[in-house]
Amino acid sequence: MKALVYTGIGQLALKDVPDPASDFVVKVLGCGICGTDLKTYQKGHHLFPPPAILGHEFYGLVEKAPEGCGYSIGDAVVVAPYAECGACDVCLRDAGSLCPHKHYVEDGAFCERVGISADYIERGVFPLKEKNDVYTLVEPLACVLNGVEQLNLKPASRALVVGAGPMGALFALLFSAKGIPVTIVEPAAPRRQRIASWGIDAREPGQVKKGAYDTVIIAVNRKELVGEYITLTADAGTVLMFSGLSKDEFVSVEAYSIHYRQVSLKGSFGYAMRHFGEALSLIDAHKETFSRIITHHFPLERGKEAFDLLASGDALKIVL
Ligand SMILES: [Zn+2]
Ligand SMILES: [Zn+2]
Repeated sequence: MKALVYTGIGQLALKDVPDPASDFVVKVLGCGICGTDLKTYQKGHHLFPPPAILGHEFYGLVEKAPEGCGYSIGDAVVVAPYAECGACDVCLRDAGSLCPHKHYVEDGAFCERVGISADYIERGVFPLKEKNDVYTLVEPLACVLNGVEQLNLKPASRALVVGAGPMGALFALLFSAKGIPVTIVEPAAPRRQRIASWGIDAREPGQVKKGAYDTVIIAVNRKELVGEYITLTADAGTVLMFSGLSKDEFVSVEAYSIHYRQVSLKGSFGYAMRHFGEALSLIDAHKETFSRIITHHFPLERGKEAFDLLASGDALKIVL
């Protein structure tokens, strides 16, 4: 089969690779390029040494299924890239996104077919009612829902999203779908205009009034923003570090805000399976709304071009 293979930093090549040998095989209809895929392509990643097939935000059609597994050839499905074990201490504390015993789908999905092991079908494969590229957004939305779970959202909450990249835009669409007033701050005018065209308040950094928002999502990986927005957040509010910073980075926050103003600093990483299920239901209910996140479609053959476009910042989500 054809696969887009990451062969080293800045390198992607279309190659012929062996078909998966599993009993359950999904023919990939679409796979979104994630921030992690882009980071791997640009800087390398310890979890994905080259050569590797990247891509985990995918859906497709069942092409091969064992007898009695509940699926037939041709069924549309979305596959969770991992599932927590559900039984360890971390899982029992409801923090499945951090489970140390996750079951991962072994191969990436920037290719024609992905093999799923038989013991993962029940846990990680979900039936879809139709073929639609919007289902590539289930995994990123699941990560957003894990972030939302860390917040202390109240009916009177006002949310501020810092950064209008694909994840920031997903947070903004989710808040507006839930009826929570939301503003997004973004320095790049084209990204601001895109968000504003959805009827969402989009502002330049510097136009945020202190105390106007109690729920602040940092969806840009710049550590200085954390301290800056802790100070701007309303009393008893929460700041969520959604974007990842590396292990050797430290953030500095104003102590007064944490103690005297009860502002909390939280983080979130990945999703647990309950978020994946909820994300799928939300996407089913708001297909058109969430489809706005997908700005480009590319065939696998033009994968490198798609990665370069995403790196330029001119696209939100690109589906291969
Ligand atoms: Zn992802
Ligand atoms: Zn676990």
